[in-house]
Amino acid sequence: MNELIDAHNRKINYLRISITDRCNLRCRYCMPPEGIAQLGHSEILSYEEILRLASVAVKRGITKVRITGGEPLVRKGVVHLVQQLSTLPGLQDISMTTNGILLAEFAPSLFQAGLRRANISMDSLNPDQYRDITRGGDLSRVWEGIHAAMRIGIAPIKINVVAISGWNDTEILDFARLTMQNALQIRFIEFMPVGFSNEWKQERCISGEEIKKRLKAFLPLQPVEKEWNGHDGPARIFKFAGSAGEIGLISPVSDHFCASCNRLRLTSDGKLRTCLFSDEETDLKPLLRSGCTEEELGEKLDEALRKKPFRHGMVEGSRKRCHRPMVKIGG
Ligand code: SAM
Repeated sequence: MNELIDAHNRKINYLRISITDRCNLRCRYCMPPEGIAQLGHSEILSYEEILRLASVAVKRGITKVRITGGEPLVRKGVVHLVQQLSTLPGLQDISMTTNGILLAEFAPSLFQAGLRRANISMDSLNPDQYRDITRGGDLSRVWEGIHAAMRIGIAPIKINVVAISGWNDTEILDFARLTMQNALQIRFIEFMPVGFSNEWKQERCISGEEIKKRLKAFLPLQPVEKEWNGHDGPARIFKFAGSAGEIGLISPVSDHFCASCNRLRLTSDGKLRTCLFSDEETDLKPLLRSGCTEEELGEKLDEALRKKPFRHGMVEGSRKRCHRPMVKIGG
């Protein structure tokens, strides 16, 4: 089996593919109220182009793909893409990050197409607060999506919660309590200064350690050694004794995990990013559209990989931001 190893001896086996920059929400921590200038149809990679790239990447050592956006479920034909990806020999895992608004409708066909895992973003349990954070989202639709995904057998289901002081920090325990009865993994993610058009401020950030402290003051937390299905990535996982679900803490800012980073990201317009926070991108679209060979595409991937930085620029007190907003990267 082939392996992709970067210049810092990290094994790269995970590709996040953003299939659209459009979103049906306008989350305050992600983008400005008016949204962002959207790419034209011809600027976005076609599904054929995405599949070709994914196929080359998988042959070179990628074993996990996550589909993201924008909101991936707003792009027509996403089920077909999942189905096509699931036929790639060597691709062991296909997952999706979604805001869940359209998931009730799509869960059965996504499951049938081969999607087995989903991360669903839900930043408040209070309908009014959820509407405020997402600038208009309907929380009941997210719950319908979560229940539909559970019924059909998508598992594990992970709930992404960006913890933000003054916005949802009073709900940390409510989120954690959900894991007592429900086989969900609640993942608290640190608010990251990505792009310049979200409402990021240092004083709004809550570190993973702070969340852990608050949870421990409520009930003892047990570390979970074994990864749930082996796909917990950089999250530190805990649970309350006897609970059905788990709690994940993801601390990319306060406790970066660059040394074990195994990711590449492909934006919907064909830029390969080797670090979430770095604006250094490799444009694969011209090559893809020039009738290149598989070999040439593979060499371009290798070239990008050689430039993967050892760590991001938000460590050691510096707060270097990248320009692309998260909605145009995909998380
Ligand atoms: N629309 C999908 C969704 O909402 O899950 C996928 C795209 S969204 C950009 C991917 C993830 O990025 C979500 O879990 C979201 O909460 C997270 N995210 C966006 N902006 C963020 C920020 N500034 N800091 C931390 N996480 C962020």
